[in-house]
Amino acid sequence: MQPVFRFAPSPNGELHLGHAYSALLDFDLCRRAGGRFLVRIEDIDPARCRPEYEAQILDDLAWLGLAWEQPVRRQSEHFSEYAAVRARLEDMDLVYPAFLSRADIAAAARDPDWPRDPDGAPLYPGADRDLDPAEAARRIAVGAPHAFRLRMDAAAARAGPLAWSESGAGPAGETGTVAADPRAWGDVVLARKETPTSYHLSVLVDDAAQGVTHVVRGRDLFHATSVHVLLQRLLGLPTPTYHHHRLVTDASGRKLAKSDRDTSLRSLRAAGATVADIRAMVGLEAD
Ligand code: GLU
Repeated sequence: MQPVFRFAPSPNGELHLGHAYSALLDFDLCRRAGGRFLVRIEDIDPARCRPEYEAQILDDLAWLGLAWEQPVRRQSEHFSEYAAVRARLEDMDLVYPAFLSRADIAAAARDPDWPRDPDGAPLYPGADRDLDPAEAARRIAVGAPHAFRLRMDAAAARAGPLAWSESGAGPAGETGTVAADPRAWGDVVLARKETPTSYHLSVLVDDAAQGVTHVVRGRDLFHATSVHVLLQRLLGLPTPTYHHHRLVTDASGRKLAKSDRDTSLRSLRAAGATVADIRAMVGLEAD
């Protein structure tokens, strides 16, 4: 089977050197493997994503020398597929409507021993995990803000031990066969009242729908892979090979952000940088 790689930017800002590294490495690995290359636009957040950014991103990727199959998949055009997959998880009794606000969660997390997820956010307290379904339906009917969350303990128990094949490395050097630890994330969000999907749900549905066999992405998403592998097992979907790569940092060692104008590809291009310059700046060997 021909390998399938994808690059999946969110159009909520301009690409910077960190994205350039990710995209170029991804495309290099794809070519080396004789694979097909896809670009996916991860635009589930209408408040932050803009068509102008998407156009600029595609222009930058073409300038970098990437070539991808058409049409580009846009997540905002597939909300009904994500809802259908969420419904399957609901049928397994693995989803509940959660009503605690950010302030409620922060209040619980004032306890210094409160568990936190790998990104440092407090785990969901789960006070409404066993709320009477009639009461939950009443709250939803009157428009109460809510999120649909995974019953993590039940989901992880149902899935059993999980692992994935890592050809890059995690933050602590994890590589090879890596044991997944989805419980570290607690009851993750699958959808919200105003957004019918979440990052985890849409990534996992799309990777399967597009037949992706190789995921190349930044090490900041290494731990999220545990959630993706769990959902793949529950839904009977294949698990791709993952390659998490180092993050490009600025002179002071901080991860680059979309707001750092001086490392944006657009400004580097305007200043006359060539693709060879970009490759050298991010530590990739010449093409
Ligand atoms: N859309 C994510 C980002 O821009 C990447 C998701 C992924 O590669 O799984 O950071």
